Amino acid sequence: MANQFDLICIGGGSGGIATARRAAAHGASVAVVEEDRFGGTCVNVGCVPKKVMWNAAHHAAALGHAEAFGFDVARRGLDWGTLVARREAYIERLNDIYQSNLDKAGVTAITGRARFLDPHTIEVAGEQYSADRFLVAVGGRPSWPAIPGADLGIDSNGFFALRDRPEDVAVVGAGYIAVELASMLRQLGSRVRLVIRRQEPLRAFDPILREGLMEAAEADGIEVVTGFQPVGVEAGEKLTLYGEDGRELTGMDKLIWAIGRDPSTEDLGLANAGVELADNGTIPVDRYQVTNQAHIFALGDVIGSYELTPVAIAAGRRLADRVYGGAGDSYLDYSAIPTVVFTHPPMGTVGLTEPQAREQYGDAAVRCYETRFTPMDFALEAPENKRRSFMKLVCVGDDEKVVGVHLFGIGSDEMLQGFAVAVRMGARKADLDNTVAIHPTAAEELVTMT
Ligand SMILES: Cc1cc2nc3c(=O)[nH]c(=O)nc-3n(C[C@H](O)[C@H](O)[C@H](O)COP(=O)(O)OP(=O)(O)OC[C@H]3O[C@@H](n4cnc5c(N)ncnc54)[C@H](O)[C@@H]3O)c2cc1C
Repeated sequence: MANQFDLICIGGGSGGIATARRAAAHGASVAVVEEDRFGGTCVNVGCVPKKVMWNAAHHAAALGHAEAFGFDVARRGLDWGTLVARREAYIERLNDIYQSNLDKAGVTAITGRARFLDPHTIEVAGEQYSADRFLVAVGGRPSWPAIPGADLGIDSNGFFALRDRPEDVAVVGAGYIAVELASMLRQLGSRVRLVIRRQEPLRAFDPILREGLMEAAEADGIEVVTGFQPVGVEAGEKLTLYGEDGRELTGMDKLIWAIGRDPSTEDLGLANAGVELADNGTIPVDRYQVTNQAHIFALGDVIGSYELTPVAIAAGRRLADRVYGGAGDSYLDYSAIPTVVFTHPPMGTVGLTEPQAREQYGDAAVRCYETRFTPMDFALEAPENKRRSFMKLVCVGDDEKVVGVHLFGIGSDEMLQGFAVAVRMGARKADLDNTVAIHPTAAEELVTMT
């Protein structure tokens, strides 16, 4: 039957596509349903456009440092429109590649919004499709505050839709997307206010990373507005953001809400399929990505843990290997997942933070090694242009097993992956000490800490 499959993946993003292709490679008949562009959040309004903007900001910063090395550089500004047009053309090429990879894999691509009619049937654009198994990988979307005038702001999708550089921006939020947007906008020349409810952003990260971030934010001229609870927005010639305590932030061209993301589980007919949701709308699953319905799986952002592209892909491939490839006990181990926050400079983190390690193992068992230093990149810079790097190793037990690595500074983004391998392999501090340093690099600090 044309509309009958072994597996239907709802959502053509990172998780859905990876699962579909791997299941098809194992011989399953598979369809992917996508209501928008293939590639999902990551390709269209997430990692990819974000990294292009980060790269642009990186070049802006490099131009600023060039003078220190004797270059005569005239900076005449950024043609934001050209940058965005080239970025979007690149993304369109990726959309085509995703589509053709599905074709090559023999996966049927269905365009439209899927909705469950019953546990084995969905409807898309008036057509019904059924399958033995389903994957729900519908991701999430930006959260918006329920306050008057909120719609005068934009979210991260709106940031990527900007066709001009805003002169004056407030980014509201304390998570990684908020600090990334604030940081890249500042490097690209905007006045930036980062507005947070508490005293510091990135509260789930190790304290040394917050220390580094706050120091760099101040040095780069990002105004961090703390203890601010937004209660309303008004537009005149410019935007005004009102705080609960009576404070007003005025003069913004753009206001970006980056206060979190909600799972896209509304209007999916999950109740018709008997799939239970958590109170926050995410889909609870077991370690094998199985929902309360044995034939319906969920993974990626919709399950609400580790909302990262490689996590969705890894979970999907293991699921397909288990169900269709005979890999009996295959599942994703969600521990020690490395991640990078693309601020300027970037930060990388894997494993336990110091507070987590102390709680889990007790103070006596935890030993941390940390360093703060000015990397050689800034050797020729005037003092006010120097930026420090920060590193911490969190070790536990008599043999000092390394359970956490936290980096902030130039190169952290590319440095972390290899150390994440070491953490997964159970490296001890002595293993790092016994590794000959690469000189002169910032990374050598990680194998020479005392
Ligand atoms: C600004 C930003 C920056 C990010 N940066 C990074 C980064 O640097 N590194 C990283 O690892 N991760 C990053 N992420 C997170 C990453 O994008 C997500 O973790 C990843 O895309 C999740 O994949 P997914 O398959 O769960 O969902 P998605 O990629 O969101 O895919 C879900 C798809 O389902 C579709 N869909 C939803 N409902 C339906 C329906 N009913 N019918 C049909 N289709 C439907 C949607 O249109 C979407 O295409 C970033 C996210 C954002 C927003």
